[in-house]
Amino acid sequence: MMGDNESRDETCCYSGKASLEKEAAIDIKDAEQEQKSRLSRFCEVFAKIALIVGGFIIVLGALRNTLTYYLQLFWGVSGNFWMRQWGKVYDVFEGDILNISITMLVLIIVQYWLVCAFFLIVDLVRPSFIIKYKIQPTQNDPIPEGKLRKAVLTVLANQTVVVFPIAVGVYHLMGWRGCGFSAAELPSFQWVMLELFVFLIVEEFGFYYSHRLSHHPRLYKYVHKKHHEWTAPISVVAIYAHPIEHIFSNTLPVVLGPLIMGSHIATLTMWAMLAQASAINSHCGYHLPLMPSPEAHDFHHLKFTNNFGTLGFLDRLHGTDELFRKTKPYHRHFLLLGLTPVSQTFPDDSRCKNIECDKDE
Ligand SMILES: [Zn+2]
Ligand SMILES: [Zn+2]
Repeated sequence: MMGDNESRDETCCYSGKASLEKEAAIDIKDAEQEQKSRLSRFCEVFAKIALIVGGFIIVLGALRNTLTYYLQLFWGVSGNFWMRQWGKVYDVFEGDILNISITMLVLIIVQYWLVCAFFLIVDLVRPSFIIKYKIQPTQNDPIPEGKLRKAVLTVLANQTVVVFPIAVGVYHLMGWRGCGFSAAELPSFQWVMLELFVFLIVEEFGFYYSHRLSHHPRLYKYVHKKHHEWTAPISVVAIYAHPIEHIFSNTLPVVLGPLIMGSHIATLTMWAMLAQASAINSHCGYHLPLMPSPEAHDFHHLKFTNNFGTLGFLDRLHGTDELFRKTKPYHRHFLLLGLTPVSQTFPDDSRCKNIECDKDE
């Protein structure tokens, strides 16, 4: 009997050992696959960046003479024009840089409400020639009144009470950094282009990582959950957020680039307006012709777990766009150059329903 037990034990140990080895082999295989997929994602991002930068250099090289000529001509005309206009603003405020800074902040706030007013009118009037571009057509019809009022009041608070201390801080940092305010200090066109490129990259890193952190299960319900109350976003919720999120995710990544570069206040204002217009577009709920595609961020509001960035390269690098890439919205995620809505070009079907379609459908 003893012998039988021993041999059963041995067999048992043996089979246990074999299953452990099998599990270990599966783990190694999984780890290898994960490593391979990370490597392929990294290569894909690297190839994309190389293609963009390489293409830019080749085109610039080929057009060098013509481009330089036209840029100089353009800058000679418009540069002088803008310099004169900025000179007038500077004179009106008698060179008071505090008043100029406050006016630029007010301009940014006015721009927000002008763009949002357009989209809110569309949401309320629902003209058929624009409604056909709606990304989630069954949602916000009509927009819940109480929810909209709450969003408007929160945005107003963010633009005043929350932003004010940051604006004071940025104003002092700009002085310390030696940022320009006068017409004579306005940068060249080429320099502004370079600065915008740096701002974009700095903003992407700042926004992606702060946004991803705000989705951490331990933090999410305290801060970022507010912004995600809207699973089908509308224009005005672009900065509908908890004050902490508005400071660290929405504002600081935008002003950090200009502070690093020691930019002119005119450049900072223009960049802040561009970034703001882009945020409103990402939340507007319409994929309009000739406008950057808002599909990725709209999908983020719908599903929460994908698309944390703006440009998308960090999502690709970290694999946080895997689900999105298997869906219909991913097929629709491009700059629409015609008038046919993307939902007609890539219609939903009974199998897809916006989620997890095969990529090659
Ligand atoms: Zn959002
Ligand atoms: Zn989010």
